[in-house]
Amino acid sequence: MRERSPLILLLLLGMALLAFVLTSSARMQAMEQIREQADANLSRYIVSLQYQLDRHRDLPRLLASQQQLISLLEHPGNAQNIDTANRYLAWVNATMGATDSYVIGTDGITRAASNWDQPHSFIGNDYSFRPYFQQAMEGGAGRYFALGNTSRVRGYFFSYPVLQAGQIIGIVVVKVDLEDIEADWSDPLQDILVMDEDGVIFISTRAYWRFRTLGYLPEVGRQTLRQSYGNHESQPRAGRPPVGPAASRLTEMDVARISASRRYGQAPLLPLDIIRREVTEQGDLLLTLVDTPGISSDRQSGRAGHYLLRSRLLPDAGMRVAVLASLRPLQSSLLKTLGLGLTFYLILAALVLFFSARHRMKQRHQAELQQAHEALELRVKLRTRELTDANQRLQQEIEQHHQTQNQLIQTAKLAVLGQLSAGINHELSQPITAIRHFADNGRKLLTRGRAEAVTTNLAEIAGLADRMASILQPLREFARPQQESGRGVNLQHLRQGVMVIMGSQLEQKQADISWPEGLERLWVTGDIGRLEQVLVNLIGNALQAMIGQSSPRIDIRLNSQSQWVRLSVRDHGPGLNPDALTHVFEPFYTTKPTGMGLGLSISHRIVHSLNGRLEAANHPQGGALFTLTLPSYSPQEHA
Ligand code: ADP
Repeated sequence: MRERSPLILLLLLGMALLAFVLTSSARMQAMEQIREQADANLSRYIVSLQYQLDRHRDLPRLLASQQQLISLLEHPGNAQNIDTANRYLAWVNATMGATDSYVIGTDGITRAASNWDQPHSFIGNDYSFRPYFQQAMEGGAGRYFALGNTSRVRGYFFSYPVLQAGQIIGIVVVKVDLEDIEADWSDPLQDILVMDEDGVIFISTRAYWRFRTLGYLPEVGRQTLRQSYGNHESQPRAGRPPVGPAASRLTEMDVARISASRRYGQAPLLPLDIIRREVTEQGDLLLTLVDTPGISSDRQSGRAGHYLLRSRLLPDAGMRVAVLASLRPLQSSLLKTLGLGLTFYLILAALVLFFSARHRMKQRHQAELQQAHEALELRVKLRTRELTDANQRLQQEIEQHHQTQNQLIQTAKLAVLGQLSAGINHELSQPITAIRHFADNGRKLLTRGRAEAVTTNLAEIAGLADRMASILQPLREFARPQQESGRGVNLQHLRQGVMVIMGSQLEQKQADISWPEGLERLWVTGDIGRLEQVLVNLIGNALQAMIGQSSPRIDIRLNSQSQWVRLSVRDHGPGLNPDALTHVFEPFYTTKPTGMGLGLSISHRIVHSLNGRLEAANHPQGGALFTLTLPSYSPQEHA
């Protein structure tokens, strides 16, 4: 909200400025329109008024030269003359469309009139008080408007002197009624006023304004009009009259003067209820006045209206014609322009507010997204660091594990070494002690000269040495290099070698051994001596497992493919117990009281070094089953 306040303030300021600009421009425009309309009305009315007056303006001058009227004025007592003049005037009057035409003597008494036969005939009336009489008596044409003395009808009077031998003998007057001159005025917003030189309104489209005063108008004043009119009733006032409500009021002297002229009968000549007069910068005169019928003292009862006054002086006619244009259209036009402009502005402001709010929301959303993004990045960084730490810990643990494993291997090696030493020590200590004994004994026998006995002792020593050699012989396998390139070994040759070694033992134990057929065709990759060692070991173990059986039997079976050859050795002994099945190839595993537990582990090592496999299992029908798989050898390829 805080960030929106300057914008709202700016919009309000803009609205105020717009309202001001709109008001002043609309006022100017509407004023211009009203002024133009008023001027047009004014011109139109003046044209029609002048036409009406001009029609009769020169009629008195024409009549003044008529012999019938001159004769009457020369001999006013002649009844014939009077009758002729009366009839002539009636005829002219009817022909020209004037209201009344009459002839007045120099004494002001009416001698003849067009209405001679009417009840209110002018004949005999004294009009010497009328200004038009005085004007004509001075030798010029007279013009005057007034309320008819007998008819109570507003009229315009034209007069002209009748001359005879350079002397004024009387005057001719033509009167034109102005009673229905406002009747066809139809503009409800603009009123017509026609005023005399005193500012008394005698023609008005509003009946209740008639015979009231508007006073002096600022740009002319009474002096100008009076001077141009050539009034003889009173001396013109000195100086410019004040402009304001007081200016519409006639002085008591003025009222007395006008009453004396009986121009407007008994009308009180009250001023209009002008509340305010104002001259604008453009020179327009604006009036605020109570425009309902009423008397001037009761201002509260009327409703005030605002008007623009446009007027024009008609010096020849002795009058000022004015249009009083209501300013009501100004207000409605102002309201319309202001309403339209402000509505448009408010829509625009709403749009501006809407788009600015949307922009702010977008920015906030982007900031939130950015925050979320940064939070996510932070979490990823933290997680990565955690993972890196965990990884490092794992590496350390692996290293520790490796170290521990190496230590364990080292310990195991030492244990093996200990076991091996203990084994060798155990096996060799007896024959060494015996050799020592035989050697000591032999020396004694030699000193006594018993040569045969010495020979026997030496034979014993040789036998013991052979036994020690046989104990050490399997251990040589551990000293042999691991990768030894294999040569071709024919299986028939292998069988023969094994049988030379084991023949006497098998015979001694009355054991039966069955070899498969076709061994001579098969070759394997290896070393005949070491392969003999493996088979001798397997057959020896089999014989040992069957000790105590009446007819021990060993079955050797053959299975071969192009890539490998498989020999299986099965006995009919008790087979391998579950513990032996898992540990049989481990060094020093033995179940025999005098066994070293090295035979099978060495055999396994030999076969492995020849890229073959040695596996231990129990035969389904009983007895242990050792399977020896070796890569086959092709003598043709190697030839
Ligand atoms: P040793 O013969 O010195 O015990 P070996 O490595 O040759 O050492 O044999 C390990 C063990 O395997 C034997 O002690 C024995 O328990 C078991 N064994 C080997 N061959 C057979 C077999 N044919 N039948 C039953 N057990 C056997």
